[in-house]
Amino acid sequence: KVKAEGIVKTFGATQVLDGVDISVNGGEVVVVLGPSGSGKTTLLRSLNLLETPDSGTLEVCGYRLDMGARGGFDRAARQRVAALRRRTAMVFQSFNLFPHMTALQNVIEGLISVKKVPKAEALACGEALLGQVGLADKRDSYPASLSGGQKQRVAIARGLAMDPEVIFFDEPTSALDPELRDEVLGVMRKLADDGMTMLVVTHEIRFAREAADRVIFMENGRVLTDCAKEVFFGDRAGLADIGERIERFLGRL
Ligand code: ATP
Repeated sequence: KVKAEGIVKTFGATQVLDGVDISVNGGEVVVVLGPSGSGKTTLLRSLNLLETPDSGTLEVCGYRLDMGARGGFDRAARQRVAALRRRTAMVFQSFNLFPHMTALQNVIEGLISVKKVPKAEALACGEALLGQVGLADKRDSYPASLSGGQKQRVAIARGLAMDPEVIFFDEPTSALDPELRDEVLGVMRKLADDGMTMLVVTHEIRFAREAADRVIFMENGRVLTDCAKEVFFGDRAGLADIGERIERFLGRL
């Protein structure tokens, strides 16, 4: 579903991504770990072109984009960007809900404005999704009166409303108090169990341990290792000195 090759991204003089290759297959849950500043968020944002990589190749949900063309994307490429965004959903650290809309209105906004689904159908879908994330009773609440965990669950329901092929999560629990994290992680666990394709940037080691199929460990804009969860958290003998690096990283958390 997602394949990125040789992704390079520079902000001014800072090279943030230094030739990153990653892939996420259908039904897989891939967790990206790594120290602060290693480029995890930038990588995720590059995959749906919220950041435009300087070079590299992306293939997301069947839409291929070659970066690095001077003068930006041509019309056909811009159409592919729009199409791949419609097939993916992104859940942000800071929720990004519309403050002037209720929980239900937030969930169905994209259905009505992007997918042109009739209002009654969108409402039914939105209510079902709020039920799925445990918030049926909050349908008429505005974001300001929801807890952080509830806001993030509304944001997940909004993403699901678009019926995405893959969901990108960017540190979805980092802005939450510890006691609110579990309710969001629980929703994510359930999505994973249901077979959703997910790429998750997080510092939640327990989620990686329990829900990931694969773990990608980044440092300094590079992928240091991309391995099965069992290898990452288990016997790292085969990873040579990278094993020690992971050990230190996990030890610090
Ligand atoms: P964290 O775990 O702290 O969120 P991260 O691994 O997600 O870190 P990024 O957020 O991708 O790392 O940032 C990597 C580097 O790129 C950092 O040094 C950051 O300051 C820099 N950076 C990110 N976005 C921009 C930007 N828009 N302009 C300039 N520098 C940026």
